[in-house]
Amino acid sequence: MSNSPAFIPFTRPSFNQETIDAVSEVLRSGWVTSGPKVAEFEATLSKYFGGRPVRCFANGTATMKIALQVIGIGGGDEVITTPISWVATSNVVLSVGAKPVFVDVDPITRNIDLNKVAAAITPKTRAIMPVYLAGLPVNMDQLYALAKQYDLRIIEDAAQAFGSQWQGKKIGSFGDLVSFSFQANKNLTTVEGGCLVLNNADEAKLAEKFRLQGLTRQGMDGMDVDVLGGKDNLTDINAVIGLQQLKQLPAYQTRRAALARQYFDVIRAELKSAGLDSLKLELPVENYTDSNWHMYQVVLPLDQLDCDRAQIMTELKDLGVGTGVHYPAITSFTLYKEQGYKTSDTPVAQRIGRSILTLPLFPGMADEDIGRIASGFIGILKKHRKN
Ligand SMILES: *Cc1c(COP(=O)(O)O)cnc(C)c1O
Repeated sequence: MSNSPAFIPFTRPSFNQETIDAVSEVLRSGWVTSGPKVAEFEATLSKYFGGRPVRCFANGTATMKIALQVIGIGGGDEVITTPISWVATSNVVLSVGAKPVFVDVDPITRNIDLNKVAAAITPKTRAIMPVYLAGLPVNMDQLYALAKQYDLRIIEDAAQAFGSQWQGKKIGSFGDLVSFSFQANKNLTTVEGGCLVLNNADEAKLAEKFRLQGLTRQGMDGMDVDVLGGKDNLTDINAVIGLQQLKQLPAYQTRRAALARQYFDVIRAELKSAGLDSLKLELPVENYTDSNWHMYQVVLPLDQLDCDRAQIMTELKDLGVGTGVHYPAITSFTLYKEQGYKTSDTPVAQRIGRSILTLPLFPGMADEDIGRIASGFIGILKKHRKN
């Protein structure tokens, strides 16, 4: 074991000394929870998103829940979303008393199939909540055309898409409500955190209220609570981490895209040299302009293999390579099955949920890591190829 190379997790955050120093400074300052650093982070993010109002929250889940509350979604309402996402996406819809309606995904992008959205719209539909899996946005023109045609709000679950673009414009710099997560695995992290890009000052005020117990203050000593809010504020400790990460983001982006390019090259070369040209391994969309390369995900050709995904993951782990599953179809979870959802209603999502695999991708990886991962991975596929 001592001779084997270091274990490569599927992701790992990078924090430089400047970030560690900035955190220490906040700790020494005497003001550690929401304060001047959160305000600075929000102002910096607002600038980043072209001047749109931005408010920060304790995590991406709270951010999305508050987005729903800001536009008044609740009991009796339906929200159209994708079954291939982190379960937070639909959990927040349930948590405000509304009903998630799952539309199947596109097999190539693995994002919600916008061509199938119209058929899922009912008089109760209030919003569409697309998810940009691995940082690849949906067709934004088509998304906002649907919103206009059917008079729906959009809450973009852009948790994975910080730094992604659409036709040269940053995701978040246009559109309706756009929600980001700064959880530790995301491209820009505050350890835990999130932010919402809003349309105007009224929405921002409402978001602030929902963020802290529904509270508004008047004058020196006046307080009132007129809506039920939660405790979802970001701290200054988290905010300074975000401010430092923003400075490093361009370098992270470049590195992620370069590593993704290497994956395509090395995987294709390894498949060829292993004589596996007919193996239907599905690679991601090769998009270096819009995607932020949050993850590098393949869809395994389980029909052509004599084992399941867990076996492939185990053998990769034995080679010192961590992998992840992002994600099983949400409708496969007990909570959702109990509410009557069926995985068979979204067959593409069902297949992808069972066979998608996340390979390691993070800025701190070495070039040699990609070769080692890809050759190990293709070797395992070759071994398990049926006849
Ligand atoms: C990470 C993530 C969330 C939730 O964000 P948290 O900060 O973990 O609460 C929601 N949706 C998607 C698609 C995510 O990847």
